Amino acid sequence: MEKNYFGISLLSEYVYCQRSFAYRLIEFKPHEDENYFIVDGRSTHQRLDDKKVSYNREGLPEKRSIYVKSEKIQATGKIDRVIYCGDTVRIIEEKRGRLRSNEQHDLQCQLEAYCFEETFPEPKIEACLIYYQKSRRTRTVAWDNNAKNKIETLYNEIKDKCKDFALSKFDQVFDSRCSGCMFEKTCGAD
Ligand code: SF4
Repeated sequence: MEKNYFGISLLSEYVYCQRSFAYRLIEFKPHEDENYFIVDGRSTHQRLDDKKVSYNREGLPEKRSIYVKSEKIQATGKIDRVIYCGDTVRIIEEKRGRLRSNEQHDLQCQLEAYCFEETFPEPKIEACLIYYQKSRRTRTVAWDNNAKNKIETLYNEIKDKCKDFALSKFDQVFDSRCSGCMFEKTCGAD
């Protein structure tokens, strides 16, 4: 039987604005937008060995676009780059803009790491990094038990709210985030 998984990008939207997360969830139509809900994650059929290896400036091997999936948090998505450093790996999320702190980016990278650990128990994760293409700089994101606990708490909160779904359960932010939001015109009118 097919099973729905939250896309990692959708889950990370929750810390940006819960209401925006809810609108995106409603709008999702299976098979039309893999960013949000993904039907029957592909990672079950993928092996890390299948991916082509390239070498970065440090001479370390890396693989791109690695599909990962977690049954525990019902999530799946794709990691931009995985760098191999002997017995460990670095998880890299790439962003277009300049280096900045951003809670949503952090969560996205941590969700990828969480799903990676469940999909590939070895090798262990050495670091989670976000690479900002415009400034060509990299930021390190915490990857420890606190990060894992935060993800599980967040997932349980989302799961509870989705059980008897109602938009009113998902908080609006009413601040600068609303400017330019694709839901700005209709937000709150439901
Ligand atoms: S308009 Fe503001 S509150 Fe509404 S979904 Fe967008 S960011 Fe959230």
